[in-house]
Amino acid sequence: MKTHLVLRIGEIFLKGSNRHMFMNQLEKNIRRALHRHADVRLHRFHGRYTVTCEPGQQEAVIGVLSRIFGLTSISPAVVVEPQFQTLSDTALALVQALPQKPASFCVKARRTDKRLPYTSIDLERDVGGVIHETCHIPVNLTRPDLLVEIHAGQDLSFVCVNRHAAPGGLPVGISGRLEVLLSGGIDSPVALWMMLKRGATVNATSFYSPPWVGDEAKQKVEALCRVLRPWGGPNKLHMVAYGEVQKILRECRPHKLATVLYRRMMMRTAGLIAQDNRALALVTGESLGQVASQTMHNLIAIEQASPLPVLRPLLGFDKYQTVELAQQIGTYETSIIPCADSCTLFAPDHPETHAHMEEVEHAEAGMDLRAMALDLARNAVCVKFSEDGPRRESP
Ligand code: ATP
Ligand code: MG
Repeated sequence: MKTHLVLRIGEIFLKGSNRHMFMNQLEKNIRRALHRHADVRLHRFHGRYTVTCEPGQQEAVIGVLSRIFGLTSISPAVVVEPQFQTLSDTALALVQALPQKPASFCVKARRTDKRLPYTSIDLERDVGGVIHETCHIPVNLTRPDLLVEIHAGQDLSFVCVNRHAAPGGLPVGISGRLEVLLSGGIDSPVALWMMLKRGATVNATSFYSPPWVGDEAKQKVEALCRVLRPWGGPNKLHMVAYGEVQKILRECRPHKLATVLYRRMMMRTAGLIAQDNRALALVTGESLGQVASQTMHNLIAIEQASPLPVLRPLLGFDKYQTVELAQQIGTYETSIIPCADSCTLFAPDHPETHAHMEEVEHAEAGMDLRAMALDLARNAVCVKFSEDGPRRESP
């Protein structure tokens, strides 16, 4: 006997005439994510989806689906005949089998087959009454601890009591392509995740500083990408060897501007890579005031070097919020592995916190910045992530 899962969508429901575009993309993403699981079938079902799979696959399939943006929850459903008594008995049995008695409950019923000799209100009232009397659980119609859902339809009838959370948001692939500046830190993987959640297709660019920082930095960022892949991205990681250029920028005067100059060169280079990959904007994990390079003055001075708009999904977050999200997403454990970052490596002892453009331009005068950025972008190594694992490509 097959197991049925009911998948619910959230924000997509609010879409008007172009809802089908969002649904098609979501469907494509679900199929792609489940492609390794043979015998799994996806069906559209009254504005939602159901998935059928073998009972032994259920846990793994729920694990995959709980990372699909656009879905809000997943419930294993017990499929039965639409007789009133059968639905009622099944609901009661499911509640009695719960490992913990809920503090309150509510029955929500939907009858899509109008020929059935009862209404959804009958189901809600009568099944609710049976559960209340048998299990002695109070009813709460507004904020129940447990929701018992009944669907009585021509094609399918079922009861479900468990909801596994899915992340909500919009299906990846619906909002255009972005290039994320991905460090090995805590913030930028979260920023990348947030853009995936809003439906963007994402590639990443990361800077490391050989020979001063070597393979461990590359491996850390690749590991972060692998943690993020089940969420839908990134598709490509561009690794930029930045050490030699940083050595040149380090000589700038006044030296306290060095970090701003490193960051500006990152913007130029990532901007070129982004344009080459037809991305519409850059994304960073910056948050206002987090460190010296993220004061308002410095953010503005850094952004001016970018050929594309710069998006900062974490701008208003404090670090605790970001850490909490990183833990939920699963990137935190990798992010805290100690590893030198290219910007901290050659950071000035007293970095500028109020960079002024005239000073910045003066410090950069005489350097062929565009040629440097072109050279960095051209020599970037691209790692492509597919369902079958990463594949490295030469420049
Ligand atoms: P994170 O912000 O990811 O925790 P971090 O704290 O090391 O890393 P910050 O100094 O806060 O980095 O840098 C701000 C942002 O600049 C990062 O979120 C990231 O988008 C970008 N950035 C910093 N270092 C790098 C790098 N080596 N490669 C790519 N992007 C970087
Ligand atoms: Mg940071």
